[in-house]
Amino acid sequence: YTGNANQNIMLQKISNIKIEDIMSLPIVVNDQTTLYDTIVTLFLEDVGTIYVNTNGSLSGVVSRKDLLKSIIGGSDINKIPVGMVMTRKPIVTIRKNENVIVAANRIIEYEIDSLPVIEDFEDEGKIKQRVIGRISKSNITKLFVELCKG
Ligand code: ADP
Repeated sequence: YTGNANQNIMLQKISNIKIEDIMSLPIVVNDQTTLYDTIVTLFLEDVGTIYVNTNGSLSGVVSRKDLLKSIIGGSDINKIPVGMVMTRKPIVTIRKNENVIVAANRIIEYEIDSLPVIEDFEDEGKIKQRVIGRISKSNITKLFVELCKG
């Protein structure tokens, strides 16, 4: 029964790990940013996905393939703002106090590479969401490696 006992310890360990324990800094641009500048940001920050803000709140997500698609479609990358090509709502998100297993499941279920970690804020009486982190397949793979070290 040692196998089972070990499995339970592992599961207990993982259940106690929250998003905020493993999240990375989010890379965010404003929706008016040109495609050119968004692509430069992608390279400089070494990320696959960039989150997009409108007036300080999350309005979209743009991935490598979204950017490639707009380029082969013939968009003028020096003129077109990222807001025109980004994926809009519903954006798949997570909160910092949720469990990492929830994030892993969500990434698999929606077939995406990362989730923005969001929190609510009030803006002129309206509840909006801002991005405070990023959880990607890399974060989860790193955690997996750490857990295997024991
Ligand atoms: P890629 O498109 O480079 O393979 P993804 O698999 O992450 O990268 O993205 C697939 C599609 O899903 C893209 O159109 C992207 O804009 C969108 N997407 C990525 N992350 C999210 C998210 N958290 N919520 C909603 N849509 C997303």
